[in-house]
Amino acid sequence: MLRLDTPVQFLKGVGPQRADAFARLGVRTVEDLLHHIPHRYLDATTVTPVARVTVGAEATIVGRVVSKAVVPTRRRLRIFRAVLRDDTGVIECAWPGQAFLDRTIKQGQLLLVTGPVKYYHGRQMMPREQIVLADPDEVEAEGRDDSAGLVLPVYPATEGLTHRQIRRLIHEHLDTLLTVVEDTLPDALRRAADAPALGEAFLAVHRPAVAGAWEIGRRRLALDELFDLQLVVARARHLAKSAPKGPSFAIRKELTSALKAGLPFDLTAEQKRSIREITGDMTSGRRMHRLLMGDVGTGKTVVALFAMLLAAENGYQAVFMAPTELLAEQHARTLTDLLAPLGIVPALLLGRLAASDKAAVRAQLASGAARLVVGTHALFQGQTAFHRLGLVVIDEQHRFGVEQRAALIEKGEAPDVLLLSATPIPRSLALTLYGDLDISVLRQKPLRQVPVKTGVRAGADREAVYRFLRERCETGRQAYVVYPVIDESERVDLKAATTMAEELTRRLAPLEVALVHGRLKAEERDETMRRFRDGAIHVLVATTVIEVGIDVPNATVMVIEHPERFGLAQLHQLRGRVGRGAEESHCVLLTDDAAARVRLRRFARTTDGFKIAELDLRERGMGELAGTRQAGGFSLRFADLERDADLIDLARRAALDLVAHDPTLSDRTHAALRRRIERRYERGMELFRVG
Ligand code: ADP
Ligand code: MG
Repeated sequence: MLRLDTPVQFLKGVGPQRADAFARLGVRTVEDLLHHIPHRYLDATTVTPVARVTVGAEATIVGRVVSKAVVPTRRRLRIFRAVLRDDTGVIECAWPGQAFLDRTIKQGQLLLVTGPVKYYHGRQMMPREQIVLADPDEVEAEGRDDSAGLVLPVYPATEGLTHRQIRRLIHEHLDTLLTVVEDTLPDALRRAADAPALGEAFLAVHRPAVAGAWEIGRRRLALDELFDLQLVVARARHLAKSAPKGPSFAIRKELTSALKAGLPFDLTAEQKRSIREITGDMTSGRRMHRLLMGDVGTGKTVVALFAMLLAAENGYQAVFMAPTELLAEQHARTLTDLLAPLGIVPALLLGRLAASDKAAVRAQLASGAARLVVGTHALFQGQTAFHRLGLVVIDEQHRFGVEQRAALIEKGEAPDVLLLSATPIPRSLALTLYGDLDISVLRQKPLRQVPVKTGVRAGADREAVYRFLRERCETGRQAYVVYPVIDESERVDLKAATTMAEELTRRLAPLEVALVHGRLKAEERDETMRRFRDGAIHVLVATTVIEVGIDVPNATVMVIEHPERFGLAQLHQLRGRVGRGAEESHCVLLTDDAAARVRLRRFARTTDGFKIAELDLRERGMGELAGTRQAGGFSLRFADLERDADLIDLARRAALDLVAHDPTLSDRTHAALRRRIERRYERGMELFRVG
């Protein structure tokens, strides 16, 4: 029997191969397929017969490709041309600089094209977009005649699965799929938001009757998504409040004052304010759950150290958790330097230590001899016992979803928790994603850094870019070359990065080139990163795995391939790897995507993380910004922070209300909602199981 969690592979027309392709799009189950909504729509109701197309206007036409050619011009620009024919006539279309279209557009295909019409030896259209409606051998199922009154959904597609195949599959199965849809949204919330039933919403997005009808559906899906998230956040907040009371620290001004006196700089006003906020939490009886958010270099570490010392001077222990061994080492070094005037050396717990050394550190933690300790998240899970743990600092908390945050809260001893994030986000988004946390923000960077010079270059400049890279490395600097790998489990993607690394090795010899990617074992990756840090490697080719906090001041050049595939916030994170020393640094965005130039240039002009986050938000909606790839995180695919501000509010209130009345969702009327949370959040249900 068909269920929401039935794998798509069992649908007629989807075999193992297509199921693999679907998996790449994040579609595994029937429910996923319903949620795989079009990223745009073509309004075929506005198609103009070719005979009636006039010069000087915009038009959308549908026609068969009767001939095509790539035409060189004097200015070395190659133009792809195709002649389209419908029942009323023929028209020439021209795509300057897009000779590559010759590979995808075939004679006999049925094309839909949209764009301005100019006069050039007759009428000529310059399509802004084109879409293949049918291949030469396919019946003209979607020709102009049938499509009158039809809005065509265009689905995100992937290699081995075209948007047309997806459209056909969804269209074919939609009615059946709708019979298993479970509407879990509280009725009152649905009415308050004036949203349709879930089945209606799916119909609206997959089979809109008229242009624009899909928006009602999208809004409903956004509401569900926001409600689910707010429910988990509300539950986390509920647990945090009802958790055992946190330690109550006294202001002793022993170690903290000594740290302040020994600092080689004055704290900024923002740092002082953050320390005040943290001190307020820590000296109160309730547990601290605070997020300290600030771009790389805004001085979060010092602030965190104040909190750690406040715990230490009260006779408690404090841990600093980093996401990787390498970052843990780096933090340990920084803390050791800052603590030098106090004569305190933090302990360091690393996975690569010999077993006996690890045991020694653990013994110190158990006896209380070590008051401050740095290590990775993994090392503090489970077997590590503390004498008296008072504070946990978690670096790069964005790797933690609300589920993990809550799991931490449940840990017996109830230490205060300070999360650090180098991914600044606008306040409204922070409230949505981190509604269970209090937030402190650092905006200014205390050090006058030489801003990174960012340039946008085309593939034609590749030689020059490599020459520049070589020159820099020959004068002793180091470089990153970033290659986007969307899905590390994809062999094709990884192969491109590997090929790139091999080519660079050849071209840049005798410089040392190495590759790191997400499929490497953590130790292997750390080892390569260490060699890069120590200068043994000149050029590091990396997929997006280069760590957010990694600090190699000698690396002054970053080349980013296919920057158009990244969100601006992600580009900003990447760029933060350079410009960490006194030297001028450069970030080169290498792209042939003309359409992406504008936004990349906008990015190149600013280095303010919050401003970039806002740009990013505006262009991609908040789902992407929150990051769909983040392990343990969650994604918002349908909601748009600005457009759906009212929904966020409604969803939050409804979620708080529901959790207040039925904290564990055990009421029978909430059974479907439980199932949904279980499917949507890997560990979400754990939250509702306890208590
Ligand atoms: P983050 O962790 O936010 O990336 P860090 O805490 O590593 O930033 O600080 C970046 C650099 O700025 C460090 O070298 C640190 O010593 C220095 N720094 C921190 N606060 C100040 C300050 N108030 N004035 C001058 N330098 C500072
Ligand atoms: Mg830091």
